Amino acid sequence: MKRAKAAPSAARTAWRGGWLQAARRVDSPNFGPRPEGTAIELVVIHSISLPPGEYGGDAIERLFTNRLDPAAHPWFERLRGVQVSAHFLIRRDGELIQFVSCAKRAWHAGESNWNGRPGCNDFSIGIELEGLEGETFEEAQYERLGATLVALAGRYPIRAVTSHERIAPGRKRDPGAGFHWAGLRHRAALPGVDFVP
Ligand SMILES: [Zn+2]
Repeated sequence: MKRAKAAPSAARTAWRGGWLQAARRVDSPNFGPRPEGTAIELVVIHSISLPPGEYGGDAIERLFTNRLDPAAHPWFERLRGVQVSAHFLIRRDGELIQFVSCAKRAWHAGESNWNGRPGCNDFSIGIELEGLEGETFEEAQYERLGATLVALAGRYPIRAVTSHERIAPGRKRDPGAGFHWAGLRHRAALPGVDFVP
């Protein structure tokens, strides 16, 4: 008997393993395995710019791939030897870059706690927005972030989206007061997902 072949759903074709096909892939060596059996339940929103407040260069990509030259800018000296990553970066123009497979544990949260549960890197996805704490973000970034959250929620059992500040209070302040949570919530209305600034 001949059967009609179902068209692949957008949710399925959007991914190859833990890599989102809409993103430009730049592999970071800064990742590890997630603890076995850990569900990916949380998305953490960050902001970053290098040097702070300067946009458009390649310093963030360099930082996440351990290729940042400490001599290239006075501010970079404090990042010497630092090994960090995030799963995604959204540039000011909305470009999406992925550094670590979502199946792996990226190094974005540091010492952190979500509702009494420590070690947020184990069970979260980290998304960096190119920006500065206290400053605003671009429309193109919200659009891309909204689409990325929809794709993530279609693949992983995401229960909440929160800020780095929320999971590391007193230590981190990003993405900061300029980030428009209501706008994001409106853009990515996801049933069962809480937005917790
Ligand atoms: Zn952060």
